[in-house]
Amino acid sequence: AYDPARRLARLHVNLSAHMVGVRLMYEVLDRASAEAADEDARLPGAAFQPGDVRFENVAFQYREAPALAGLDLTARAGEVTALVGPSGAGKSTVFSLLERFYEPVSGRITVGGRDIRDTTIPDMRAAIALVSQDTFLFDMSVRDNIAMGRPAASEDEIVQAAREANAHDFVMELDEGYDTRVGEGGGRLSGGQRQRVAIARAILRDAPILLLDEATSALDSESEAKIQEALSRLMKGRTTLVIAHRLSTVREADQIVVMDRGRAIESGTHRELFARGGLYKRLCDLQFSEGGSND
Ligand code: ADP
Ligand code: MG
Repeated sequence: AYDPARRLARLHVNLSAHMVGVRLMYEVLDRASAEAADEDARLPGAAFQPGDVRFENVAFQYREAPALAGLDLTARAGEVTALVGPSGAGKSTVFSLLERFYEPVSGRITVGGRDIRDTTIPDMRAAIALVSQDTFLFDMSVRDNIAMGRPAASEDEIVQAAREANAHDFVMELDEGYDTRVGEGGGRLSGGQRQRVAIARAILRDAPILLLDEATSALDSESEAKIQEALSRLMKGRTTLVIAHRLSTVREADQIVVMDRGRAIESGTHRELFARGGLYKRLCDLQFSEGGSND
């Protein structure tokens, strides 16, 4: 108990949990103010013209070491772009810069040809839905957790989103259906159920850009199949960037961008990159499995 390394490790965990809270608060506040400021916009992100998402020679650092070191990538509109690469390559940083939690040190990021610095942060965030394995659920009803995607949604729209997310059937089996409280952090639901609530929330948001951080933890194969099916529906027609941990995801992606040390070092389809025999091939051999993987 007095081991300083252990105390530090625990501190790190606490800080990380806290950061999730801070980030979420920004997300909620920004989205709420975006809606207030933009009352006649029918859709979230309506002020924002969607299109290709481009990083042009983007450099960024948190501290001394560069996290992105001249990153070039284009995620084409309406397609799925998978980001793969070793831990620390800069994949999560791509998401944070797109959401404008940080600004690039140099280079620029554009959506539909427009520098994202020329949009407001609320408009930018309204154009994005993020789904990750730790998408935060509040200790309130399933209905209210889904409705956070679009607070003005009707009951029918909420149920429709839950159906598309393959969540409706399990929700109906809960003691109080959509009124069931999910517990702190969604603790009364299984991991697979929490993910489907998060997907339903994103479906309801109906944002043109989808950022997906795939779960690393393995789920039972039935939940896995239901989640994959729900995600396919969610991705349809959106510009999706996915931090991929599953071989099946990269195989089906329109484009794979292989990142290493803050740069894109290879891009192409699974077939092209596998045949090339470079880092992607080595990652496939080492990292990906059908059930999930380490990062
Ligand atoms: P990946 O998602 O590919 O694992 P990240 O984008 O998380 O990579 O990290 C890229 C680099 O930036 C790594 O060297 C990582 O240690 C560093 N980094 C990431 N987040 C932070 C942060 N909040 N503060 C300081 N350094 C960070
Ligand atoms: Mg990461």
